[in-house]
Amino acid sequence: MQFHKYDVIIVGAGGAGMRAAIESGQRARTAVLTKLYPTRSHTGAAQGGMCAALANVEEDNWEWHTFDTVKGGDYLVDQDAAEIMAKEAIDAVLDLEKMGLPFNRTPEGKIDQRRFGGHTRNHGEAAVRRACYAADRTGHMILQTLYQNCVKHGIEFFNEYYVLDICLTETDNGPVCTGAVALELATGEIHVFQAKAVVFASGGFGKVFKTTSNAHTLTGDGMGIVFRKGLPLEDMEFYQFHPTGLAGLGILLTEGARGEGGILRNSSGERFMERYAPTIKDLAPRDMVARAMATEVREGRGAGPHKDYVYLDLTHLGAEVLDAKLPDITEFSRTYLGIDPVTEQVPVYPTAHYAMGGIPTKISGEVLRDNDNVVPGLYAAGECACVSVHGANRLGTNSLLDINVFGRRAGIAAAEYAKTVEHTELPDNPATLVESMVSGMLTADGGERVADIRGELQTTMDLNASVYRTEETLKQALHDVQALKERYARVAIQDKGKRFNTDLLEAIELGFLLELAEVLVQGAINRKESRGGHAREDYQQRDDVNFLRHTMAYKHGEGLAADIRLDYKPVTITRYQPMERKY
Ligand SMILES: Cc1cc2nc3c(=O)[nH]c(=O)nc-3n(C[C@H](O)[C@H](O)[C@H](O)COP(=O)(O)OP(=O)(O)OC[C@H]3O[C@@H](n4cnc5c(N)ncnc54)[C@H](O)[C@@H]3O)c2cc1C
Repeated sequence: MQFHKYDVIIVGAGGAGMRAAIESGQRARTAVLTKLYPTRSHTGAAQGGMCAALANVEEDNWEWHTFDTVKGGDYLVDQDAAEIMAKEAIDAVLDLEKMGLPFNRTPEGKIDQRRFGGHTRNHGEAAVRRACYAADRTGHMILQTLYQNCVKHGIEFFNEYYVLDICLTETDNGPVCTGAVALELATGEIHVFQAKAVVFASGGFGKVFKTTSNAHTLTGDGMGIVFRKGLPLEDMEFYQFHPTGLAGLGILLTEGARGEGGILRNSSGERFMERYAPTIKDLAPRDMVARAMATEVREGRGAGPHKDYVYLDLTHLGAEVLDAKLPDITEFSRTYLGIDPVTEQVPVYPTAHYAMGGIPTKISGEVLRDNDNVVPGLYAAGECACVSVHGANRLGTNSLLDINVFGRRAGIAAAEYAKTVEHTELPDNPATLVESMVSGMLTADGGERVADIRGELQTTMDLNASVYRTEETLKQALHDVQALKERYARVAIQDKGKRFNTDLLEAIELGFLLELAEVLVQGAINRKESRGGHAREDYQQRDDVNFLRHTMAYKHGEGLAADIRLDYKPVTITRYQPMERKY
């Protein structure tokens, strides 16, 4: 076992982690631990844009942006956090520009902006141009720019290090975070990192679903690690389904395509969103568009041999616009479906995309251990965190914004905190849990295979916990997940070696997926209302009397016998009282 000592450890080198590292690295001795090489993080797959009310191409302001975020999130958003995000958005974009990010430009040379779902002028009057973008490779540009700046500031990276546990030291005032334990992929060695502060920026868990826009590695490790320590997860039942995944594959076509004028059509060519959202039509928030598409298909108006998708029509945009503003998705469609968007309509269907919930934090990024108290030294930002700016449904382009605004805040807060404290002693034998996890997995000889269990998990989640849910489907999902957890106890891997043992790591990741799926489903069963991305057919109305509150899920007990205790946290409401959500 190897030992390291830093002031601040950041877990994850996506947008949130690297934005945090740039701040922390200039203030305190910082290391970034990442299971992927930094520029392979999922932020690099983000396409359409990052929003800020720059008002470069038309009138706009941060107050409208705040309102849209709150309404888009179906009023489950903590409004103080949303206001901070919308205000700080402007500097967040300008900071990236100064770091060298090549945004698309207007003819006068300003950062260009385009429309995106749910972003409106004057509280819902019409769609507004708020998304800054670099063609449909905005995330790629952000990730490269942040990485270059980390290199410039001499930030230390431990690449292909899988963090599998954190160290919490008990004190008179409750637990304090004192470090993290990681497995080095290349050698199989275990490393203990002692730190004054640990920032989780480990991304989402889209791999609980089969049809997803998420990369193979998005297995929710950070959320799972925190949950296993008895800390809460917030609003996990709210999972976003992005309307335009390539049908049957789930590969994403950015909402920027509709921002540039793309139209959704059913089998008879009807622009059906006119019926569901008469004012902003195809640019309604994602939860509404995904439900509208599912409804069209259910009611027999789907296209294709099985009538199981709808069309995204970009043919009227012309080759020039597609080339200049949407080149990647044009190519995805050609490569994966053999369809040329210049001349043909593209088959699309909703795909699992984004976790609104996650590790609950304050606006400083400090992680909560219950509704009132934080865990000193523990921070989280980005998709693994829930601050909560997205509430029950995230607006497109608000995540690239979230990772920059709250990544920066968490990096500053962690480093400033580290300056004020000494290292607290690590708990005794800090690596024990990871050592036994690894040796248990390497010696197990049960007959279950990782790929089988993962496949069955994803299938039941797609069938039973997707765009539409009922008590019955959710209970089926819960039953299946619990049965799979039992089988997981008998999982065995084939590679028993130490070096580059991805078999081992996939088995460990599956453990996180199973636990997070259970939290998602339990929260969804318990939330007997429809709000944002959580649509219950048996409770179709939003119920502000009983459910205008965040879910807080805690692990209760150990190992297989553990169950989930659900609690609640009030929503912070400042300016906007909940209203009917029409578009
Ligand atoms: C295809 C696609 C397109 C998108 N387009 C947009 C868009 O246009 N606009 C927008 O706002 N949002 C978009 N999103 C959402 C947005 O990109 C993500 O929510 C955001 O980038 C997440 O950033 P992050 O830094 O939190 O996590 P990620 O970028 O996912 O990074 C996670 C990091 O954590 C590390 N990690 C994970 N587990 C461990 C572990 N156990 N040990 C060590 N390291 C670990 C990984 O190595 C990685 O570096 C898109 C998402 C997808 C999937």
